[in-house]
Amino acid sequence: MTEKEDTSKLEKLNAVKGMNDILPPDSARWEWLEDKVRTLMALYGYRNIRTPIVEPTALFVRGTGETTDIVEKEMYSFEDKLNGEALTLRPENTPGVVRAVIEHNLTYDGGKRLYYTGPMFRHERPQRGRYRQFYQLGAEALGFAGPEVDVELMLLVHELFGALGLRNVRLEMNSLGLPAERQMHRAALISYFEQHPGQLDAEAQRRLHSNPLRILDTKNPAMQALVQNAPQLLNYLGQTSLRHFDSVKSLLTACGVPWSVNPRLVRGLDYYSHTVFEFVTTELGAQGTLCGGGRYDGLVKLLGGKPTPAVGWGMGLERVLELLAQQGQAPAAPTPDAYAVIPDADALPLAMQAIQALRAAGVSVQMHAGSGDGPGSMKSQFKKADASGARFALIFGADELAQNEVTVKALRDDSAAQRRQSLADIAAWAPTLQCPT
Ligand code: ATP
Ligand code: MG
Repeated sequence: MTEKEDTSKLEKLNAVKGMNDILPPDSARWEWLEDKVRTLMALYGYRNIRTPIVEPTALFVRGTGETTDIVEKEMYSFEDKLNGEALTLRPENTPGVVRAVIEHNLTYDGGKRLYYTGPMFRHERPQRGRYRQFYQLGAEALGFAGPEVDVELMLLVHELFGALGLRNVRLEMNSLGLPAERQMHRAALISYFEQHPGQLDAEAQRRLHSNPLRILDTKNPAMQALVQNAPQLLNYLGQTSLRHFDSVKSLLTACGVPWSVNPRLVRGLDYYSHTVFEFVTTELGAQGTLCGGGRYDGLVKLLGGKPTPAVGWGMGLERVLELLAQQGQAPAAPTPDAYAVIPDADALPLAMQAIQALRAAGVSVQMHAGSGDGPGSMKSQFKKADASGARFALIFGADELAQNEVTVKALRDDSAAQRRQSLADIAAWAPTLQCPT
């Protein structure tokens, strides 16, 4: 059997369900978004942190919380084949960041502002805006207890959405107060739900004693009335918590960020305190939460560090890009400034030198690449030049090269005359090829 016959029988392999390839030209939108993120993070003094994708399973059990959907059913966990260590593909990155901060004692000289972007993994039912591998951008500020940092973090999201041109996104927030206040509210909540056992669905019954706060979060329409009338955590907050929340509200207003209070916005874990928030839209169906965050003053200690106040958020980038596309805000795919047409392989040495000089001067040049038998006809090269979207063709013909020149032909402007340019002073005319931005 020849090798060729053998190959043709191989089964085609596809990406794992719920895990997407991000391909050009779409990947350009990702790069555009990432550029905006970088610029903004620098303006706010947030530094990039890159932690491993695989972490010990115990980090998420403790740091994300045993009673959360993530830990209960969404993690990709496996045993290290060599040493049996329990490992997990990160479903979120706050625990990883906190682990790294503790491990490297990053807060030894004061608070730290950090951000990350990268893939997260959750075993969920794939649908629009919900994938098994998805990208999160996150920002975390560790070592700052005051409400101004909560506001700074929300402002960062507000400004990012503004810079992207995103519309119709609302900031909702709530205060979870302090653990002791939540204990009192929890007791009231349990007794309220216990008075209406017939109205609890199976999930709510299961959560009643493990994590009753999470019942408030239910998406079951049949439970909306019950949940609407449940005791509100806000009524259990003491002076300190109320003062923190009031400062957050007034500072947001001072910074021009619209907000509203959603008393049902909760996180069921003890390490949260004070501010929780979400940026939501009604334009993405059920996957309308673009960004969720809050203060988690108890987490650093829970993961073995010195007690350190902390606050942060995580944002789903697929959802942000989806909303942008839906709102017609996607940037145009990038095209090269010029396409190099090379009629004969003999021209390659000089042409490639000239193209390098143009790139060094900041001109993006796509070079025609042949099939191996030769460069291909002028006609087919011009077809490719046209398809590339380039605004100019550079023709490295024998005539031109004999005079140390190249022909520059405008591809999108019929009125522009073809011109010859000298290869001796490329830097001088290179700017005429660049797109005016
Ligand atoms: P949801 O209620 O939509 O499941 P969540 O509470 O699980 O969200 P977080 O853990 O707070 O979400 O993650 C922060 C953000 O990450 C979400 O607001 C969302 O934009 C995004 N996100 C979460 N899970 C997914 C997923 N499976 N696919 C795509 N984006 C996701
Ligand atoms: Mg989820």
